[in-house]
Amino acid sequence: MAKHQPSRRCISCREARHKRDLIRLVRGADGSVAIDPTGKAAGRGAYLCAQQHCWDRALAHRLVDRALKVALDGATRDQFATHAAALPKELAENE
Ligand SMILES: [Zn+2]
Repeated sequence: MAKHQPSRRCISCREARHKRDLIRLVRGADGSVAIDPTGKAAGRGAYLCAQQHCWDRALAHRLVDRALKVALDGATRDQFATHAAALPKELAENE
């Protein structure tokens, strides 16, 4: 492993990865959940790998709901499914 790189754990596969390989979801003050492209938005956050597999699994098992203690509405789930469809199926393990 490299020295001290910022890493976070994916809520779906539970792997720790560099932040750049993860996508942050953030829960807003109103309880809505959004993709946080900057990774710095205020609010409770959860991370998913930038690969379809983890998103599909998270949506199927309501892992985002659990991690952020919310119930995702249908529109948000659809939005995340659309986002997932644009991601690579799997990230390369190492570079
Ligand atoms: Zn993952």
